[in-house]
Amino acid sequence: MKTFDPMEALANARHEFGEHGGVNMSIEASTTFTVLDAEMMPRIFQGMVGPEGGCYLYGRHFNPTVYTLGRQLAALEGTETAYCTSSGMGAIAAAVMQHCEHGDHMIANEAVYGGTHALFRDFLPKKSGIETTFVDVTDHAAVEAAFRERTRVLYFETIANPTLAVADVPRLAEIAHRHGARVVVDNTFSPLVVAPALHGADVVVHSLTKFINGASDFIAGAVCGSMNFIRSLMDLHTGALMLLGPTMDPRVAFNISLRVPHLGLRIREHSRRAQVFAERLDALGVPVCYPGLPRHPQHDVLKRIANPDYGYGGIFTIDVGDHRRANEFMEILQNKDRFGFMAVSLGYFETLMSCSAASTSSELSEEEQRRTGIAPGLVRISIGYTGSLEQRWSQLHDVLNILNMI
Ligand code: PLP
Repeated sequence: MKTFDPMEALANARHEFGEHGGVNMSIEASTTFTVLDAEMMPRIFQGMVGPEGGCYLYGRHFNPTVYTLGRQLAALEGTETAYCTSSGMGAIAAAVMQHCEHGDHMIANEAVYGGTHALFRDFLPKKSGIETTFVDVTDHAAVEAAFRERTRVLYFETIANPTLAVADVPRLAEIAHRHGARVVVDNTFSPLVVAPALHGADVVVHSLTKFINGASDFIAGAVCGSMNFIRSLMDLHTGALMLLGPTMDPRVAFNISLRVPHLGLRIREHSRRAQVFAERLDALGVPVCYPGLPRHPQHDVLKRIANPDYGYGGIFTIDVGDHRRANEFMEILQNKDRFGFMAVSLGYFETLMSCSAASTSSELSEEEQRRTGIAPGLVRISIGYTGSLEQRWSQLHDVLNILNMI
């Protein structure tokens, strides 16, 4: 099989020039669009014509600037098309709600971003009667056993937040499709590293807030999938994106679209540094988890599904023992060594560190955290690329000495 290079696919995609021939596209900063012929309006409302025919309608429906960013992301993910949202959560909520009716059922990995967990465990069953069974998706027998007659969606993150367990996308897609369910994958931790749609995922969602934007200055999201699915999300009468309204501003789309062409360079450097640090930590006996280490339980799975040349992602975790030590570890790294910042989020050019149990996984109960393998002293580190690798390594080494970890 010919290997997929997402950055090559992006280079082959149509380039959008500016209105006056500028090398960058123009920003279509209009909330509403004119029609030349009054009869066009009802035809748009009846879904007979859409943006592909050159007819835009209203900014919450389709905006050309936002659609251009969507096409860039579709190229990277190998999907037919994509559209963007005002946040990753907006993308996730719309993608799963579009597949489910009241009384339907979903299966989700037990390790997912805490906001997603709260949406599925509490919000959706209470507000919309959509129930979720959480399982460990690396246990394929457990996934198989969780299907019900009304299971519509199997949901997981390619590399799970924060356990870094890797989902065997082709195997899970085969199971879900056999049961007539759709596969929705959150690829926020691994853009370019894996293209889940090429391995059977039906829909790929992203928090663009993270690696894809890379500058921690915009909250944004995207849904990538078939033309039919994206159209269904934007349907004027039944579409979750159209009706719930998590619309991306065209100015945001423009800014993010300028950062997509150097995503390949950034991801390679995030991955290179994470790999070097993880190998050195591992050699020192520090309890590090990174999917690029051969001893990671799903290293072979990731190796099998990864696109060549982008490494294994920019995130690793270290279990420093307990919550108090996690705080001490991060405070020294931020306030003494200036290694990175204590902040949630990831994919920034600076290193970001957070104690997952007390922050972005705090939506899970202590029992859920224990079962999922989110230890109280687990520190999630999103490796940046400022400074030199050796300078950053000596800072990390320093704190390991101070905390007697080596
Ligand atoms: N998916 C993952 C894996 C995340 O880590 C996050 C946020 O941390 C989200 C989705 C939500 O994204 P956003 O904050 O852009 O809504």
